Amino acid sequence: MKRFVIVSKDDEQSKQLKEKVNLRLIELSYENNEENPDLVVTIGGDGTFLRAIHQYIDQLDTIKFVGIHTGTLGFFSSYDGHECEAFIQDLIDSKLEYKKFPLLDICVKSKSGNEHYYALNEMRVENVIRTQLIRVSINNEFMETFRGTGLCISSQAGSTAYNRSLGGAILHEGLNLLQLTEITGIHHHAYRSLGSPLIVDGNTQITLESDDFCEAILCYDQLSVKLKKDSVINCMFSEKTVHCVGRPNTSYIKRLKSLF
Ligand code: NAP
Repeated sequence: MKRFVIVSKDDEQSKQLKEKVNLRLIELSYENNEENPDLVVTIGGDGTFLRAIHQYIDQLDTIKFVGIHTGTLGFFSSYDGHECEAFIQDLIDSKLEYKKFPLLDICVKSKSGNEHYYALNEMRVENVIRTQLIRVSINNEFMETFRGTGLCISSQAGSTAYNRSLGGAILHEGLNLLQLTEITGIHHHAYRSLGSPLIVDGNTQITLESDDFCEAILCYDQLSVKLKKDSVINCMFSEKTVHCVGRPNTSYIKRLKSLF
């Protein structure tokens, strides 16, 4: 027997759809199992999808995620709210298309030890209280000293999210690349950093260091932790992968057009 769980947004439309999908899956002899699902259905938006990923972050190897969107078309959700029956039919016919998304591995080193955090969209180091100095190295080679609010490192999947608001490029699906963008960098005669988004190969490690990361926050997707004065952040692609299934032949350009 297959085990499923539905992670839903809290609005009325999503809750009603959750009831419907729940009944249809039980009719198909699926068992509702929150602890150990092998199919996670998200109903809501891309934000709901991200929350589901982090809820099951330690079980990603054994889970497939499918998104049903109750707003505009999502990047992680290929069925919209009216297409619930199409999803059930594709599931019965084994027609669901498989895609995988690598997660970012964010290793934060400090005197108190190493912590790993994972992100599907992006990680950001931000300090909204004072100018943050960050030394940036690419594969252990020093590149620049940045001064400003912070830096964002995004995956292909996250390129349409926070990265896009920062003026970063959108990366077409399938490109396994990392993108570094500035968050309100200071550029004048005394301080200078690259200024443009930098896109690097997926095997690259980006290191962020500072004399003082007090008051800075590490944001990873919708989550965040405070950094310590001596934190050193290494970001690269992880071996952890999100396995997704969805509507076959969903156009990436169509999704992109729904953004603007
Ligand atoms: P949230 O409310 O869950 O999401 C904020 C918005 O970002 C929502 O409209 C969401 O779409 C959209 N979004 C999330 N991932 C996306 C993706 N890969 N491509 C395109 N749009 C995407 O916010 P949150 O809980 O604070 O943070 C979750 C994510 O939202 C973050 O990883 C960040 O990338 C993004 N975000 C973006 C901005 C910005 O652009 N200024 C600000 C805050 C957060 P749905 O409506 O479909 O859920």
